[in-house]
Amino acid sequence: CSGGGLLVFSDSVPPRRALTSDGQEVPKKKVVVLGSGWGGYSFLSHFNNPNYDVKVVSPRNFFLFTPLLPSVTNGTVEARSIVEPIRGLMRKKGFEYTEAECVEIDPSTKKIHCRSKDGSNVDKEFDMDYDILVVAVGAKPNTFNTPGVEEHAHFLKEAEDALKIRRSVINCFERASLPSLTEEERKKILHFVVVGGGPTGVEFSAELHDFLVEDVAKIYPKVQEFTRITLLEAGDHILNMFDKRITAFAEEKFQRDGIDLKTKNMVVGVNADEISTKEIATGKIVSEPYGMVVWSTGVGIRPVIKEFMHRIGQGQRRVLATDEWLRVEGCDSVYALGDTATINQRRVMEDIAAIFSKADKGETGTLNKKEFKSVVKDICQRYPQVELYLKKKKLRNIANLLKSANGDDTEVNIETFKQALSEVDTQMKNLPATAQVASQQGKYLAKCFNKMEKCEKKPEGPLRFRGEGRHRFQPFRYRHFGSFAPLGGEQTAAELPGDWVSIGHSSQWLWYSVYASKLVSWRTRSLVVSDWVRRFIFGRDSSS
Ligand code: FAD
Ligand code: MG
Ligand code: MG
Ligand code: MG
Ligand code: MG
Repeated sequence: CSGGGLLVFSDSVPPRRALTSDGQEVPKKKVVVLGSGWGGYSFLSHFNNPNYDVKVVSPRNFFLFTPLLPSVTNGTVEARSIVEPIRGLMRKKGFEYTEAECVEIDPSTKKIHCRSKDGSNVDKEFDMDYDILVVAVGAKPNTFNTPGVEEHAHFLKEAEDALKIRRSVINCFERASLPSLTEEERKKILHFVVVGGGPTGVEFSAELHDFLVEDVAKIYPKVQEFTRITLLEAGDHILNMFDKRITAFAEEKFQRDGIDLKTKNMVVGVNADEISTKEIATGKIVSEPYGMVVWSTGVGIRPVIKEFMHRIGQGQRRVLATDEWLRVEGCDSVYALGDTATINQRRVMEDIAAIFSKADKGETGTLNKKEFKSVVKDICQRYPQVELYLKKKKLRNIANLLKSANGDDTEVNIETFKQALSEVDTQMKNLPATAQVASQQGKYLAKCFNKMEKCEKKPEGPLRFRGEGRHRFQPFRYRHFGSFAPLGGEQTAAELPGDWVSIGHSSQWLWYSVYASKLVSWRTRSLVVSDWVRRFIFGRDSSS
């Protein structure tokens, strides 16, 4: 069944049986993938093993290019341009897709329970069994149980959300333009509040500001003076995950632009007319009338995952934990990636004795220079935190230590070794909930499956420590290619690897080109580029 190129474009369903190396026919293993977002789509597009039967379950029959979602809210880019239907990929790869939501995962029977809405809004329910489950369902907006948020605020997570925001902004302007309104009423309707100073909230505020300045001024000249944007952030600064220079630039730019930036302010409630905030320092609560609220304060866990975590003994945790091979801890044959999960990294200090004795080839109780070098190389692969530590040149101290401790006779004993690595684990950081992480994880996991048979025959990994005898693959390693924060007015802040920060118009062009190249198909790429060109020439579309 490895028909290669020919099979690729055929519509036929591939056979349900696979051949083993000694020519025996066995049923194919069923891989069920939950989700068609960054993680799921990346997994599916890199998966190439004909010995598996792949099924995809997702309530959404398209992939959404989320980095350009804020641009949909003001019409810079059309929603259609940033979605990629997944049926095309399914046909090309011979995978099967079902439009439904997984509502329950039962690892004891290896079954999932799904629900789909047909046209008549009647729920259809069914079970599906799996041999291997790949969970990539992402996360949901986090309201921190703030009263009124679900009912009155907009989220910015899905394509539909962006379109709703766009309609709502235009509606505010139409309503504010009606005759016989008082000035107060117009001010209320045109008060836009953004909650959350992370990259999405900041980018949305910037896009909204551009729209108000570049387009609304022309279309609704009479009410333009009543508009106001407030950006609320509970922390001390916006964009706090970025370099300080970027934060400072963004805060200054927003001030100049007249965006009302209120840090150290926590939202405590929203009702139909007012949003209430608490000043963290003083505890003072202030309520202000608003026309529209956009809620963008990070993500939380989906109910189906919460329930699954209880079943597998992870009920106490905040996020689903996997090991570095993306296998869910506490159950078999389930993998999780992207926003829905987090990698539980191992600490060097926990394994230090095992690392040391493995490195000490001659069992002399000390490491010579060669042994030391090779063990450092090995642990860099196994424990990502060591590499970060190395980058900070601290390991040079180790080398010096090695010299000074033993003079010419360069050998280290376990105590010195421990001391040298004692701070390594403080470098450990959870990976951020980003598309970059999810797509790299999807690609990594697909590649593991692609070489599964080969690895089963030759089960030797780069390193095998206590309790890890079964691993044959290198653990997942994240490579950070940098992050962008578009700040409006054709300016973008970029933070690239190696402490490289660039802010301004040139990084805007870098941003355009990076995102154009990251779009998953030539179809979406050409649509987005033509949207950008259309916006440059004609301005944004303001019909709702
Ligand atoms: P998602 O991409 O959210 O995919 C989840 C999938 O699972 C969806 O297809 C969903 O329909 C499906 N699903 C949900 N529930 C179920 C269920 N019960 N059963 C089956 N399927 C289900 N990251 C960056 O790196 N750079 C950026 O510039 C950037 N900008 C962003 C801008 C916005 C507005 C947003 C919202 C996010 C942005 N992100 C960005 C973050 C990025 O989108 C996420 O980190 C990424 O989508 C995570 O991928 P995922 O596969 O885990 O989840
Ligand atoms: Mg996904
Ligand atoms: Mg997505
Ligand atoms: Mg994650
Ligand atoms: Mg030795």
